[in-house]
Amino acid sequence: MSRVTRFPLVAGNWKMHTTVEEGVALARAIAGASAGVQGVEVAVLPPFTHLWPVHEALRDSAVRLGAQDVFWEDAGAFTGEISPRMLAGWCDLALVGHSERRHLLGETEDQVGRKFARAVHHGLRVIVAVGETEAQRESGNTFVVIDRQLDAAFAPFDPPPGADTFVIAYEPVWAIGTGRTATPEQAQEVNAHIKAHLASRLGIGPVQVQYGGSVTAQNAASLFEQPDIDGALVGGASLRSAEFGSIVAAVARTRTAA
Ligand code: PEP
Repeated sequence: MSRVTRFPLVAGNWKMHTTVEEGVALARAIAGASAGVQGVEVAVLPPFTHLWPVHEALRDSAVRLGAQDVFWEDAGAFTGEISPRMLAGWCDLALVGHSERRHLLGETEDQVGRKFARAVHHGLRVIVAVGETEAQRESGNTFVVIDRQLDAAFAPFDPPPGADTFVIAYEPVWAIGTGRTATPEQAQEVNAHIKAHLASRLGIGPVQVQYGGSVTAQNAASLFEQPDIDGALVGGASLRSAEFGSIVAAVARTRTAA
């Protein structure tokens, strides 16, 4: 598939880590570690409690800010939820469909689609995470699972959203937080499949597709040399500013926007 015309996106998913003070310090350190790197978009996804202080800390920085999740309604009796409308205008990105939400918290494919649609409606750029479990890969169902997750995510849209309103993150569940990275060839194969599927099924393209799953400073370059890996969603390593900066630098060295 052809390369996308946007800069690759490296986003750090902090999950449920850091206090507010630690998060602000981490955001500042990441801004410092990635300052001056050309040709890569960098984002942090802190916990909800940290979003506004991190937004303030990043005011003079090119680092983008995103939420780790959003709800599918604008307002109402939904205790504990945060809506895309609350983030609109000051938050750049929202992640939906992370495997921890799908598998640990029982989020359904239908809910992921509703969240995606509401967030796009409010002008957030959405990272939609998809990925197969180890059992699904071993039974030869990787593409079946990915296609089903994609089709459900895009189901609420008619017409389909523009390619610049979202990023797909291919995150094999067996590689997240395990230290078992997909090989560059495995990641390339699925990323290319995602682009082909969205182009043929929905006529959307060229689509930006990240890889996520135990990305480190050591394995980053070999992944980003692949033509269809357009950045990374990084968990554990995004909590270490120097390592995260090395991953950003590896993307800059190996990938440039067309
Ligand atoms: C993630 O949480 O999206 C992730 C990829 O985590 P890790 O990099 O720790 O595998």
